Amino acid sequence: NSFFSSVLPPPEDPVLSVYFASRDDPSPVKLNLSGGSYRTEEGKPLVLEVVRKAEQQLANDMSRNKEYLPLDGLADFNNLSAKLILGADSPALEEDRVVTIQCLSGTGSLRVGAEFLAKHHQERVIFVSNPTWGNHPLIFNLAGLSVEVYRYYDPKTRGLDFKGMLEDLSAAPSGAIVVLQACAHNPTGVDPTLDQWEQIRKLVRSKSLLPFFDNAYQGFASGSLDIDAKAVRMFVADGGECFIAQSFSKNMGLYGERIGALTIVCTSKDVARNVHSQVLLVVRPMYLSPPIHGASIVTTILKNSDMYKDWTIELKGMVSRIVSMRQQLYEALQARGTPGDWSNIIKQIGMFSFTGLNEKQIRFIAKEYHIYMTYDGRISMAGLSSKTVLIQLADAIHAAIT
Ligand code: PMP
Repeated sequence: NSFFSSVLPPPEDPVLSVYFASRDDPSPVKLNLSGGSYRTEEGKPLVLEVVRKAEQQLANDMSRNKEYLPLDGLADFNNLSAKLILGADSPALEEDRVVTIQCLSGTGSLRVGAEFLAKHHQERVIFVSNPTWGNHPLIFNLAGLSVEVYRYYDPKTRGLDFKGMLEDLSAAPSGAIVVLQACAHNPTGVDPTLDQWEQIRKLVRSKSLLPFFDNAYQGFASGSLDIDAKAVRMFVADGGECFIAQSFSKNMGLYGERIGALTIVCTSKDVARNVHSQVLLVVRPMYLSPPIHGASIVTTILKNSDMYKDWTIELKGMVSRIVSMRQQLYEALQARGTPGDWSNIIKQIGMFSFTGLNEKQIRFIAKEYHIYMTYDGRISMAGLSSKTVLIQLADAIHAAIT
């Protein structure tokens, strides 16, 4: 006799079902490569040393309290986050036409941005890449936007379908919102080159589309925070408008702190002022004000030049471990003579590799080798560690293919 007896179980979720299958597998050698969190060489979660140091500093500061932050979060955090993505010398910042508000990580920033757009932007169509991060359509649909896709990944080349992407964006209605992943595209690991970004920028501007950057992996593509910001900065440099959802989950390893920012670059200070006040009206009924701890950690690190430097070194360390895993997996497949061209594994960028394995092969690998990946064939390179794990995966892929 429940009020909720008519509530149905949820439809099967491909990502969650991999998670459950892995959880319930009793094998001692099981390996879950479906997640998106960095792991150390020992397969353990990593807290950056600079984060530990910042936390200690904060804990020792008796002047701190637990008062509410303002609706838009910690002011220093917002300024420093905007500088991190736009560049300290950004004309948009100098001209005071940038709105940045602290949000609940990348997801929360996307959600707040989407709610604002649903309320204040005339065109409700939003384009995402095919494929894209699974949460994108859910976030945008829930906000009341209408989600469409543009071609992005070409399974034949395991690279970018650039022609298809331009064709689809050309056909988008004027004013349509276009979600662009700033770097280290999830799930494909395929990014446009800078020349291609420039062509995308020209098209987006000439068709009056509104770019919404998802910047969840700044630093994770090249190891450099500035290089990974180039695409976004290209769009900001032309004076046009854009949205940016920024996350510190991956590049500072602050996943559970839920810390990120929404930046809206406007064309004038007056527009920015009004946009800012309307974004606050989106935030207020949703969660009133954001959490303080993660913002304080990020601010401590970004503010202090020594800690900032330590951060960039640790970030590079994570990235080079991932690159080395790519190289080692590629070489292990070469050594086995596994049929097919596996160069995509070393060409692809960021945390993930789109292997090109099909669902049958993926199920075989899970059953016989206890290795779990999402059914689109995405593996988290950051979840790979040590020679034994790598050999287990290379053997599994080889057996699935041959
Ligand atoms: N965008 C993309 C493309 C992602 O891969 C992720 C994390 N998986 C996010 C946004 C959001 O992550 P978070 O909310 O932890 O910042």
